[in-house]
Amino acid sequence: MLEEFVEAGAPPEIMYSGKPHIGTDILQTVVKNIREKIKSFGGEVKFDSKVTDIKVKDNKIQSVVVNNEYEIESDVVIFAIGHSARDTYEMLLNRGVEFEQKPFAIGVRIEHLQSMIDENQYGKFAKHPRLKAADYRLTYTSKINGRPCYSFCMCPGGTVVAAASEENRLVTNGMSEYKRDRDNANSAIVVGVGSEDFSSSHPLAGMEFQRYYEHLAYKVGGGGYIAPIQLVGDF
Ligand SMILES: Cc1cc2nc3c(=O)[nH]c(=O)nc-3n(C[C@H](O)[C@H](O)[C@H](O)COP(=O)(O)OP(=O)(O)OC[C@H]3O[C@@H](n4cnc5c(N)ncnc54)[C@H](O)[C@@H]3O)c2cc1C
Repeated sequence: MLEEFVEAGAPPEIMYSGKPHIGTDILQTVVKNIREKIKSFGGEVKFDSKVTDIKVKDNKIQSVVVNNEYEIESDVVIFAIGHSARDTYEMLLNRGVEFEQKPFAIGVRIEHLQSMIDENQYGKFAKHPRLKAADYRLTYTSKINGRPCYSFCMCPGGTVVAAASEENRLVTNGMSEYKRDRDNANSAIVVGVGSEDFSSSHPLAGMEFQRYYEHLAYKVGGGGYIAPIQLVGDF
């Protein structure tokens, strides 16, 4: 996997780095180069092409419908549609595809000055030209109910970015460019949630759980897709 990335333009140090980092700016070229390689092997990439329905006969897939306009026939279809294609999950469920609940994590983004993280991690060596922006990892397990709480997707020298995928709902994410040279660090601080937290045993109950909190965040932020912000101590 790492070799493929390097061949496509990722920094060679990811081959030996303990926490390989490509950076959003370089990743754009890497993805494009991988796409060109797939095309050189005869693969085809269709933009602006959404699978809006599937055709099933005798419990077997026959074709996918694209943009409600045309069909692509196949008896094998792989849906690698990521975490946010909720409309497609619903469509697939309605067409009889089997789904099951899975645990995930939900939380907030915490942002602080990168210089503070560097000082904490490197001590007197902070600002040394050979040291890159420092990262960290936190984990904690509740002694009361065993629920895990941990940092995730720590972005040294990065930015918090908007990541909502539905109207009137708000989600944030984080990213760093290759150099990780921005003023702030951020990370997600999340808690694990699972079936016991969802309102029903419906396979998509976790998605409704997400929608509930995403809508709350949208409302608390004032309704303009602006993330609500508060100090850590207050939170
Ligand atoms: C801002 C940000 C920063 C991140 N940073 C990191 C990081 O530093 N490191 C890391 O490991 N992970 C990171 N992640 C997470 C990572 O991007 C995801 O885990 C990864 O992209 C998931 O890959 P995937 O192929 O499963 O899904 P995706 O990358 O989400 O791809 C799914 C694709 O399916 C398409 N699709 C969905 N529905 C349909 C449909 N009906 N018809 C046709 N196409 C459809 C979508 O348009 C999309 O192109 C980050 C995510 C975000 C948003």
